[in-house]
Formats: sequence, structure tokens, C-alpha cells
Amino acid sequence: MSASDLNAFLAWAEENEIHWDRDAIEIREGKHGLGIYAKKDLQAGYEAIQVPKTIVLSVRSTGIANLLEEEDIEGYVGLTLACMYEHSKGKDSLWSVYLSLLDSRRPFIASDLSEDVREIMKKSEVYGEIETDLKDMREDYDSIVIPFLAKHPDIFTEEVKERFFSFEHFRLMTAHVSSRAMDVDNFHVSALVPFADLVNHEAEPNSDYLTHEDVCDICGALSCEHLDELDSDEEEDDEEAPELSGASKKRAAAKKAQSGSDDDEEDSDDEDWEDEINDTCDIILDEDVKKGEEITRHYGPFPNKIFLSKYGFAEIDNAHDTATIQIDMVKKTALAIVGDEALVEERLNWFLENEDTFISEDDPEEDGCCGGDHDHDHDHDHEHGHSHAHTHEKKEAEDDDSDEEEEEEEEDEDDFPRDIMYMMHDGTIDDRLLMLLNVIFMEKDQFVKIQDSLEVATEYFNDIFLRRALEEEDGLEEDEEEPKPEVKPLDETGRRIRKAVLEAILKVIHLRADAYKVSDQTSAEDDLEALKKSGLTGPAYYGEVCAVGEKQIIQSGLKLYSKLLSEL
Ligand SMILES: [Zn+2]
Ligand SMILES: [Zn+2]
Ligand SMILES: [Zn+2]
Repeated sequence: MSASDLNAFLAWAEENEIHWDRDAIEIREGKHGLGIYAKKDLQAGYEAIQVPKTIVLSVRSTGIANLLEEEDIEGYVGLTLACMYEHSKGKDSLWSVYLSLLDSRRPFIASDLSEDVREIMKKSEVYGEIETDLKDMREDYDSIVIPFLAKHPDIFTEEVKERFFSFEHFRLMTAHVSSRAMDVDNFHVSALVPFADLVNHEAEPNSDYLTHEDVCDICGALSCEHLDELDSDEEEDDEEAPELSGASKKRAAAKKAQSGSDDDEEDSDDEDWEDEINDTCDIILDEDVKKGEEITRHYGPFPNKIFLSKYGFAEIDNAHDTATIQIDMVKKTALAIVGDEALVEERLNWFLENEDTFISEDDPEEDGCCGGDHDHDHDHDHEHGHSHAHTHEKKEAEDDDSDEEEEEEEEDEDDFPRDIMYMMHDGTIDDRLLMLLNVIFMEKDQFVKIQDSLEVATEYFNDIFLRRALEEEDGLEEDEEEPKPEVKPLDETGRRIRKAVLEAILKVIHLRADAYKVSDQTSAEDDLEALKKSGLTGPAYYGEVCAVGEKQIIQSGLKLYSKLLSEL
């Protein structure tokens, strides 16, 4: 990127009322590529960047918004098409200067990777992730993009299609979109937020991205005639501002911290009211930042395979990293131990049909996913659901008498791949795998009992989770203050099942290791040291980071479950 590109972008940003202080922050090249840096000491609460939503590029703001809506094209394909269209308009597009800044930097693209780098990535799950993305992209291009373009030959002439809408263009723009898009609100949904999108990810970030998420989904405003109509329909017609989301409350708090004034409640409410006229996407410091430091935020609790395939980087010792266990590995292991295929099938099917009754997706933020006490918004938009914590909520058995509810449930199920289970960053297996193995190895009469009664089953699983929680505490420093809940010592049957479960876990982990040819000749720590000395950079380096991270998980898991087995 040339200095003139950057200057043009800054002038454009100013024209479009993106707010930042040229004396306080700057855009420059750094260890994460282009990023935002402090030019002087800044305090927590400082509003570093404010981007008005009028300049956000989304499926709603693009010139082809009506066409996309007609065809019901949303998600990343919609946003990518919007960006390609604006790009094709050249200088006639409101975003031309911004898009040429993107154009000047080639994003991480899987098809650019050399054979050598591909070989490195094959040691990690990231390879499968990238291959799947590529396949999906091809399918989306053929089944959505091509028919859409064909439907509007007046706009997408043969010449325009060739110059701006080839599969290569689609792939390139998708890479920009997936690495930059931010969740804006229920009107714009996921969108490009110029300037704010230059803030890079850090595991321990110093800023937060905040915005009003609840807006009118017809026009995007915070208060408008549509919302007024809704209000009067509900006969709750009051003159007050629409309710503020958590984010905006935080913003009011941040503003208070910044001004240092002792505003009373009424005054800060007034400030929010003013904001509603000019709704913005804000980057606000939640820690003091020294002169020269980079301003960073947290992109979300993603495992490395997602960080790399989506954003082009991976994190050493990523607290959100996972290794996946295919359900076929579990089946194979169970069969080797039990030797009864019909039994394994029956129990597996029962588990898959009933597991939702006993487990619910936890909000990782509640437990402080990063182990730190930072308070930031995570983008929970990745499709690889995994439970971060081992806490449990009992869901009441629902009787679905409305069709609508049933449909929603089915959609939910599609979101979450049933045939994949996870090992977490610390080497522990997720709750689903622990439950499944217990179901497979439990006594026949016990299985009959839990089939008969959800209450008995719930009690059974709660006991397992309680034991697991105590086990995990054992590894930590003892907290004498808190009395431990009592569990009965395992009886002989309990010990037999426990032993089978632990042996199965170890076997499954070995199968996962073998599937990716994870060598036990060297430790993950050795590999990491070697990587640091290797001089590798870019995708090759990050591919190795993924492989080492997964090896670390496997190593921790083998160590943990061998220890538990030996203590039994
Ligand atoms: Zn409206
Ligand atoms: Zn994190
Ligand atoms: Zn976090």
C-alpha cells in the first residue's frame, strides 16, 4: 500500500465523518500488517474511532440492496456480492476509495498456498477447514451468484461480469469479507466498517468494539416511525427513547470514564439520546494504551483452524483452541472394547436423539473464556459450536405443539454438527463425548432406567459432571474456603464403567493423533521451540502453529486421562 493510497483513505474517512484524532492514533504497518497505533498515551474509556453507520457497507446499504433482498441473498454471499458490485462501479461508488485500499492488499487465500505450505497445513485440522470453505464457495458461486447475475443482464453485462464477477473475483472478495466483516446490528447484520476494521486481534486486547445492536430492521434507525407504529400497536406508547442495548450502556459508562465528570444518571441518559441521532460503530479503549502501542480487540472465541481459515493468522497457546474427535472414532473404539455392534449402535442413537435434554450450549463469556478479566464483545458467528465450559443447565422437556417451534429447533440442530466432538485447549474432552461414553459402557439395567425416565437420566449425568468438576478442581490449588460437594465413592460397577470410559478416551485420543500422523517422538514444546527457530513466516508459520496447538491438546489429554486411569 502506498502513502498516497493511505492519504486518500484518510481524506475519504474525514469526508464521511468517521471520527478519530490524527494526533492520537495513526494507521501504519506493524507486526500484524496494517494496524492502528497510539501516537500518545491514551486512557481507558477513550473513544479511538467512531464510524457512522451511514458509511457502513452492507447488504442494506449497497446500490443493489433491493435486488439482494428480492432474491433473499444474505450472509457472506450477499455481502460479498454487495462489495463486488460497489467495486465494479469504480469512482461512482461511495466506497471506491475504501475498496481500493482493500485492493492494494491481497488477503489470505487458500488457493495461493504453495505445495509446501499445503503439506504443513495437512498436519492440522485447518486443512480440512480450508478445503470445505473452498468447496462451499464454489457451490455458492454456481448456485447463487451465477443465477443472480443472469437475472439482471442490464446491470451485469457480459463485459462487467468478465471484469468484476469471475469466480476468482468472488474468491478474493470473500477473503476480504470473511477477514473484515463485523457484526453491526439487526439492520446491517454483518458488514464492512471502514477504519474500525483495521483494528487487529489480540488474545489480550486493549479495546472493545461497541455499537447499538437493536435498531429498526426496516430502516436501521434507533428511533423512527416504524418503531413508533410498533409501539402504538402494542399500546405501550411512551415518549422515551427505545431501550438501549448492553453495548450502549457500556458506552455511556465509557463516556463517563473518559470525561471523568461525575454526571448524574439523568445527564448520561441525555448523552445517549443525542447518540441516537448519529448512530456509530465505536472502538473504545478498555485499558490505558502507551504511545506507540497497537490498539487491538478480540475477534471472538475461535479455535486456530477458524482464525487461520477466516483471518489468516493463528495464536500460540490459544485458549479457545480445540481438537476434534469424529464420532466414527468413538464407534470404532467402543466396538473394540464392547464387541457388540448392535449395542453400540443402539446407545449411540439414543444419545444423539436425547442429548439436547441434558446439555445446552453455554455462553463462554459468562465464564470468562480467556481466563482474563477483560470485557469485550465476542462475535459468536462461527458455525463450529463447542462448549467452552463444563457447567450445566437442565432444560425442561418441551412439548412442541406449535409447528413454528419445531422448525426453529430443526434449524438449530443443523447449525451444530452432531458427528463431531471436541477436546478443549486443556486436553479435556467435551461433555458430549463424556456422556456418550458413559451411555455406551453403562450396565444394561441402568440403560433401561435412563431410557424410561428423563429424571433418572438427568440425575445420572449430573453425578458424572459433578465428579468431573471435582476432578478438575484437584488439578488446581485447593480452595479451603469452599466446602466441596459430597460424592459417594464409586462402587464396583461404577469403577468398571469409569475404567472403560477412561480407556476409551485414551484410545480415541490416539486415533485422533494417528489420523493426523501426530508424532510422539517430540513434544509439542519441542516443536514450538523448533518453529520459533525455523524462520518460517506467513501461512507456513501459522499452519505450524495450528499443528503444534493441536498436538499440545492431544498431549495434555493423554497425560490427564492416563493419570486419572492410574489413580482409579
Ligand atoms: Zn424504521
Ligand atoms: Zn481469547
Ligand atoms: Zn474473551
